[in-house]
Amino acid sequence: MEPQQRSPLLEVKGNIELKRALAKAPSRLPLPGSRLKRGPDQMEEDLEPEKKRTRGLGTKVATSRPRATALTTVPQTQGQTAVPKVPRKTGPRCSTAVATVLKNQKPGPAVPAQKPGTTAAPPVVGRKKPSKRPAWDLKGQLCDLNAELKCCRERTQLLDQENQQLRNQLREAQQQATELGAERRTLEEELARMRAQAEQGQRELGNLSARVLELEERLGTQEGLVQELQKEQLELQEERRGLAARLEEQEGRLQASEAALSGSQAEVASLRQEAAAQAALLAKREERLHGLEMERRRLHNQLQELKGNVRVFCRVRPVLPGESTPPSGFLLFPSGPSGPSDPPTRLSLSRSDERRGTLSGAPAAPTRHDFSFDRVFPPGSGQDEVFEEISMLVQSALDGYPVCIFAYGQTGSGKTFTMEGGPGGDPQVEGLIPRALRHLFSVAQELSGQGWTYSFVASYVEIYNETVRDLLATGTRKGHGGECEIRRAGPGSEELTVTNARYVPVSCEREVEALLHLARQNRAVARTAQNERSSRSHSVFQLQISGEHAGRGLQCAAPLSLVDLAGSERLDPGLALGPGERERLRETQAINSSLSTLGLVIMALSNKESHVPYRNSKLTYLLQNSLGGSAKMLMFVNISPLEENVSESLNSLRFASKVNQCVIGTAQANRK
Ligand code: ADP
Ligand code: MG
Repeated sequence: MEPQQRSPLLEVKGNIELKRALAKAPSRLPLPGSRLKRGPDQMEEDLEPEKKRTRGLGTKVATSRPRATALTTVPQTQGQTAVPKVPRKTGPRCSTAVATVLKNQKPGPAVPAQKPGTTAAPPVVGRKKPSKRPAWDLKGQLCDLNAELKCCRERTQLLDQENQQLRNQLREAQQQATELGAERRTLEEELARMRAQAEQGQRELGNLSARVLELEERLGTQEGLVQELQKEQLELQEERRGLAARLEEQEGRLQASEAALSGSQAEVASLRQEAAAQAALLAKREERLHGLEMERRRLHNQLQELKGNVRVFCRVRPVLPGESTPPSGFLLFPSGPSGPSDPPTRLSLSRSDERRGTLSGAPAAPTRHDFSFDRVFPPGSGQDEVFEEISMLVQSALDGYPVCIFAYGQTGSGKTFTMEGGPGGDPQVEGLIPRALRHLFSVAQELSGQGWTYSFVASYVEIYNETVRDLLATGTRKGHGGECEIRRAGPGSEELTVTNARYVPVSCEREVEALLHLARQNRAVARTAQNERSSRSHSVFQLQISGEHAGRGLQCAAPLSLVDLAGSERLDPGLALGPGERERLRETQAINSSLSTLGLVIMALSNKESHVPYRNSKLTYLLQNSLGGSAKMLMFVNISPLEENVSESLNSLRFASKVNQCVIGTAQANRK
């Protein structure tokens, strides 16, 4: 049979038991100290074999231990025989010696009686004690003395023999003692070794006990762990049961889902078919939609053309706080042919001319000046209302027609308010530029659904005294950027570009707001340098719109220009000209020149003249591509409601009326 395999732990335990047994087992060697505890009797027992050996020497050996005893033994034995034989009076020396011996003798252990004849002493038992000899019996006395001497001699001889025997015994005993000493040393060494072994064993036992304790402790820990694991196992089993139940449930659901899925798949297949049919329909509709979009563009353009490629809107700003209210009837807005529901298109301004007095001296009746425009916005019109009218033009710009919107009028008539908006960033008073751009971005987003992708690049410049300056300049150029020049984009190119000016791509309203803010800052810096320069310069915001229909390979591009013109007021020719006024005159002449050039350009275009004097001013040169054949133009004529500004208002209205009479040829979209 194979030996049963034992765990290492049990094996260690077994070893420990074995060692304990070894330690407890009586040693065959005398334990240290045990000898010391033993009395002389035990010692005697230990020395028993030796004793037995020495006993072999005869009874005399037993008597040889104490010398005195040995010595007395002889007289004792002798005493029984010789003492009575010697008369005291006859041998005083001999008797004295014997008496001394007898006197020193102590009672010793019983010694077996010596057999007669074992000694050389003559037998004295039964010898008759000699009676006292008479003094005269000298011979007898001599005989007695001789006998006594002889006896003494015998005894001496006997004692010598005995002495010799005792010496021999002593030697033997000493030899034995030496041997026993050697043996004792050997035993002591063995004892020391055994003690060392025992100590070693004790230490090992201690170590093993400690190890056992440690292992027991570990065993305890392991048992605790095992219990925990068992508990955990139970929990896991419980969880497993729960999961199994859930799994079963899920499987049930899955089966149900699979059944539903197969149903759904069939449904999907039919839906796919339907979708394919719908897609075909959609493609057809898209095609139709595109056709309709192109038709819409065509019709939109036709409508714009019917409205006129050159349109003039008149806007009268409200009377501002602190301004004197004009007399009633100063400005009138007669209703259209369909009554007040029609948007106003007419404006009537009365002017009382003091120079034209009547003969009677009574003031002449005020002269009425009537004007008619494409649309008139009375003072109460909001920015949203104004924008609604021009949103169609913004759509034209997206369709690929160049669009140019001007604000014309004297300083303080509301041009900047119309183009950029009122102060404070109030969305209600936002101007045309932010509104137009927001509209563009949202329409472009809608058109992206039809496959059109649009991109916009903005620029903003100022033309002052026939010099062009970038209003979007940043960094060191901010506020006092170097002069810019208008150049053709490339040799043979129709496109114009302003050198040193920033062209910023924009895609959202916030970017446009940031640009307008920057332009305002740039103007503010310039204003500190030169008084009210902004009203003495033209601000031109241009947005280059590019659209592409990748699917159909269509492209369109057109500039949208929003121009805040310089104040159109003239200098009073009667005023004396100081050094400041001379500068002002130069500015005014530059403005007047550029504004009249603008009028001339529009006239030339309207009259289809072969030469259009674009180059006569920086403004018309820069706007060359936004005016003319394919362009749509809108001019806001901004009017002050104040009576004191009537002269300038009339001038502006007359200029605008002339423009309004112009019809610029059929616009062509810039399509490729
Ligand atoms: P311009 O640019 O022609 O010199 P502004 O646009 O600076 O004139 O207008 C002059 C003042 O009149 C500004 O304070 C402006 O806020 C105010 N203003 C102009 N038009 C309107 C309007 N339609 N509604 C309210 N305030 C206006
Ligand atoms: Mg202004």
